[in-house]
Amino acid sequence: MRIIKNTLQMQKIALGHIKNSDEIGLVPTMGALHEGHISLIAKSKKRDDITIVSIFVNPTQFGPNEDYLKYPRNTKKDLEICRESHVDYVFMPLVGDMFPANHKTFVEVEILQDILCGKFRSNHFRGVVTVIVKLFNISYADRSYFGMKDFQQLKIIEKMVKDLNFRTKIIPCPIVREESGLAISSRNSYLSIEEKKTSENISRILKEASEDFKIKDLNFVKEIVLSKLKKIPESKIDYAEVVDFNDLSLADESTRKVVFAIAVWIGQTRLIDNTIMIKQTK
Ligand code: AMP
Repeated sequence: MRIIKNTLQMQKIALGHIKNSDEIGLVPTMGALHEGHISLIAKSKKRDDITIVSIFVNPTQFGPNEDYLKYPRNTKKDLEICRESHVDYVFMPLVGDMFPANHKTFVEVEILQDILCGKFRSNHFRGVVTVIVKLFNISYADRSYFGMKDFQQLKIIEKMVKDLNFRTKIIPCPIVREESGLAISSRNSYLSIEEKKTSENISRILKEASEDFKIKDLNFVKEIVLSKLKKIPESKIDYAEVVDFNDLSLADESTRKVVFAIAVWIGQTRLIDNTIMIKQTK
């Protein structure tokens, strides 16, 4: 496994592999790697000749009052995980190399970037999309792996790839959960033991909603979810919304495949989760 810190060097290495007809898989991460990331890496290892994992806590996707500085960083453990997962290259650029002071270009995906999480985190997706565009150009990825935990992010990247004719194929990967149902996230490390217990309600409520959705009206299911979420102690709901699986537009009774997406604060920690729900045809 090679650790590459320089963007130009990574680009040269990747281009060498492309010339060699190797297929490249990219797993973009912000580090603090866990089972969720490992599942993405495993998918790439199965399919691609070369697996690149990028580890970069991207400052442009954090708001001024968000957790950029305290975001968990553990390079030693991350590298161990990558080694154990037989990653070929870990790309760990410095902030100044990715976003020098004179960086001026940003990529935006209109409308999709302003709904759900975008309503509460302005400029977040602009930062995400821009860094992903850069990583695609640096890695020459044939495929790139994204978790469905960040469902809006996945849909926005898919749209960007389509709109801008990128050759990289986006591979969606299922949410990896703890036994309790809690979606695994680097930010779970912020939670106290008590808060973690409380957080487990989120996935339970979503699971119950997907059962209810089979037989009950959409608005009714939404109301039940909201009332259950409100009862979680020390919590604050950013949103609990049902959207069309395909384009994130607001779902109505006629939408067959929907995503119930939730963002909730448990104490000082913002958690997101979602579930895909399919209407049974009568
Ligand atoms: P992050 O390091 O949080 O930016 O996440 C990097 C990638 O891992 C993103 O595509 C995430 O959606 C994905 N990911 C994070 N947590 C999970 C999880 N629990 N299950 C599946 N994918 C995940």
